Formats: sequence, structure tokens, C-alpha cells
Amino acid sequence: MNASVLVINCGSSSVKYALIEADPKAPRLDGIAERLGSAEAQLKGNDSAGERFIKSLPGADHAEAISAILDSLEGRRPSAVGHRIVHGGEHFTEAALIDEHVIAAIETTAALAPLHNPANLVGVAATQKVFPSLPQVAVFDTAFHQTLPPRAYRYALPETLYHDHGIRRYGFHGTSHAFVSQRAGELSDRGTGGWLTAHLGNGCSTSAVWQNQSLDTSMGLTPLEGLVMGTRSGDVDPGLHAHLHRQLGWSLDEIDQVLNKQSGLLGLSGLTNDMREIEAAAEKGHTGASLALEVFGYRIAKSLAALSCALPRLDGVVFTGGIGENSPLIRRHVIGLLPHFGFSLDDAANEVTIRGKEGRLDNAAPNGPQVWVIPTDEEGRIAMETRHCLEACA
Ligand code: ADP
Repeated sequence: MNASVLVINCGSSSVKYALIEADPKAPRLDGIAERLGSAEAQLKGNDSAGERFIKSLPGADHAEAISAILDSLEGRRPSAVGHRIVHGGEHFTEAALIDEHVIAAIETTAALAPLHNPANLVGVAATQKVFPSLPQVAVFDTAFHQTLPPRAYRYALPETLYHDHGIRRYGFHGTSHAFVSQRAGELSDRGTGGWLTAHLGNGCSTSAVWQNQSLDTSMGLTPLEGLVMGTRSGDVDPGLHAHLHRQLGWSLDEIDQVLNKQSGLLGLSGLTNDMREIEAAAEKGHTGASLALEVFGYRIAKSLAALSCALPRLDGVVFTGGIGENSPLIRRHVIGLLPHFGFSLDDAANEVTIRGKEGRLDNAAPNGPQVWVIPTDEEGRIAMETRHCLEACA
């Protein structure tokens, strides 16, 4: 199917978009409408010549933002819309054509993603208002991980919490892990074997993928579990909540806020959640920044080592996301902690591979595990899944 797909990623006060043609070489029009609902609302985007534009949209709501996005598409018109939906619960193992049943199912999973799913649905309603006759497809962050076996997705909690309340590990960043593991299979002589993927952006997660199926991943019920992230703590002792409540009198909301917004790289460094600034500060001898780098890299290596247990064979690791694609330092740190797996980094290749380039970074023995950097393309993957869903429904 040659559909030109408008990919929409809607937050509570923002709409990210990308118009993606079936021909991967066709230029993309993309951008973000942000601060919606306020006097400072604006649309920032890239035109087909790659020039940036900014348009003020004072007081605009989501539907008005989507109308402004439509006006900015230089006369190009989508034939379908693909929505990024954060949580599909156990309802969705793949993308779904949006109708009232799909919307109702997304609503029922809102308790699992209270900040994201309702905002995603606002985007669906706004887009339906502007494009009433276009097919709309929901593509879920969780769907790729629905192949996890029970040993990976169940917590050791009373069974009723799973059966009656859906308390289990779901995993996120599914479109990214799916995209880079598939691409590794295309680029490498190993094919679609056993890949460990590390998506390292503001949010960070790892995944173990065997023959294009996710077998385990570091995020769980929520995107807070697992690695150290920009402002999220990742794994902590489950006893921490009770301890902070009893000893410091913190409420659950305060604990939630600290673990999600004030922890991670920001909490450890006491400086910033931005990896570029952390690296620069560590270089100048800032102790907190150096510690943040140490903990961040160690936790990634530990997670990759643990996830390797899910794979029948380890063919390599793939780094992606803003940090994974651009930080030779973090890649060196992580791979340096995994020599007993046979990983061996080609330092020269590692240093030069940044900013959107894909490439192999190891000098491993013929049977040793490879190291790849592959820029993620979540929007491209959402567009592809949207097309596949429409073909399957036709
Ligand atoms: P998001 O998860 O919001 O999509 P990104 O994938 O863009 O975020 O990743 C953002 C992170 O990537 C930030 O911590 C940023 O500092 C980091 N990053 C971007 N460029 C570099 C670089 N050249 N070196 C180190 N880190 C970088």
C-alpha cells in the first residue's frame, strides 16, 4: 500500500507530527505543536526544503493545532493517520484500526497510563474532527512486548493482582526496539537472531529480541522500571515507598513525583538530566556528573547481561536513542563492562559513529557478539505498521 501516513503523537499540551510517504527517500514534513491551551501555543516544523518555521497559535486546542499542521503540509495530503498510543494493555498485540471498540479498550487501559492514554485519545478525537473520512490506526508502545512469556512478564505477587487488575510487566518503547532489531537483522550477517537492544534517550529501556519477537524488556507495569533515565530512577527497592512514607512522611504523590521527575541523571548529578551537559561537567571534574555516568552505564550493562538469559543465542547489541546514537563514551563504558560475553569494541569506529549514522562498532571474533549503532525511527515504524494494518483490514 502506498499510503502517505500522518503520524501523530499527542501529549496533554502538545502534538508531534510527521507526514511519511511510502517511498523512504521522499522528504518528511515534521514538527511539533506545543504549549496548547495557552497564549504561547505555537507550531514549529520543518518544510520540504529542510527549513525551520514557527507559527504562533495563541490559545489553540488540539483540533486547532491539527488544522494548522494540515495547513503546513504544503498541499500534500495524508491518506491515513497513525497514532502513537502508549498503553495497549493485554488488549492489543498489534496495531488496530480505530473504531468505537478500540477507543473503549484504550479507555479501559487508562488506569495503567493515566498521563498518556487520555492525552493520546484527545489526539484521536481532534484528528477525527479534522479528517473525518481518513482511516485512523492506533500503534501501541506496548504491543511489541506482548510476546513476552509469563516468566518475564509476571511479578511474584498474589495471582489476583494479575488476573483482576492487570498488574504485570508490559514494556514500552516497542516501536523503537522493533525497528532497530529488525534493522540489525537486515544489516548483519547474523540475520534475525538474538539481539539485545538499548534505547537510550530521555526514557531508557533494554530489550531481548529473538527472531523479531521481544522475549524480555527492562520496563514493566509503567515506564519507571529498569534503567536509570533522564529524571526517572529506574529500579529501586520496592520497600523504598513504605520507608519514605514512614520515615519522612512523604505522600504517594510526592514519592511518585521524586522517582519520576527528580531522580535519574538529574538526581545523581544534582545538575541536569541532559547527557551532553553531564559528560561536559564530568570532563571538568564534577563529582556528581561522574557518578551519574558510572551508575547510568553500569545499570545498562547489568540489564543487558540479565536480559541475555532470555535469548537462545546472543548475536549482538544495538545502541539507539539520543544517547545510544551519539555518545561514544556511554557505549565504551557499557561494552567495557561486558568482556566475558566476548564483546570487543572497535574504538576508532565507536568514536566516529554519531549523529544519525548506522554502523558496526566491534572487532569481535567471527562467532563473538557484534555491536551496532542504529538510529531509531519510531515515526517510520508507526507509518509502516499503519500501512500493514490497513492492508490487513482491506
Ligand atoms: P527522547 O527520549 O525525548 O526522544 P532523545 O532520544 O532525543 O530523547 O535523547 C535525548 C538525550 O540524548 C539527552 O540526554 C541528550 O543529552 C542526549 N544526547 C543527544 N546528543 C548527544 C551527544 N552528542 N552526546 C551525548 N548525549 C547526547
